[in-house]
Amino acid sequence: MAKRIPKLHLTQINRFWAQVDRSGGPDACWLWTGFVRPNGYGNFGVNYKEYKAHRVSYFLEHGRIDNDTLILHHCDVRSCVNPAHLFQGTPKDNSQDAVRKGRNTRLFGEQNGKAKLTRVAVLKIRRLYKAGGVFQRTLAKQFGVSEATISYVISGGRWKKLPP
Ligand SMILES: [Zn+2]
Repeated sequence: MAKRIPKLHLTQINRFWAQVDRSGGPDACWLWTGFVRPNGYGNFGVNYKEYKAHRVSYFLEHGRIDNDTLILHHCDVRSCVNPAHLFQGTPKDNSQDAVRKGRNTRLFGEQNGKAKLTRVAVLKIRRLYKAGGVFQRTLAKQFGVSEATISYVISGGRWKKLPP
């Protein structure tokens, strides 16, 4: 379960917004300019604890986050903290959201440890990996499969008939 965000003092709130690029206007993604974790989420430290920046943003906007809920992105940009792009959801909502956006992932046969990826996901993984700067481990996490599957996808394997 995600950490509960404490009530923030004004100086902490100001420090939060000082790390956000809002230059694109109210409808744009507001990108976190502070530390971004390897998984793509912005990181905000309060009293020696680390919180996901987009969760803090949602918390500041709404004053609360229900227990056991995730804060999800409409825009699919993990480092975005624009409250207008965020919504509260369950882990189930998250996987449905992922499927709808083509980020996912598992079709059938998961039980035998061979999670399958959609064609769209395979192409996306290859594109992301080719662009550089991303670990196979990170991709595995993002797409909900094993590192071995990611490695297999990148090297060709079962999906080699797809365009590179
Ligand atoms: Zn956004």
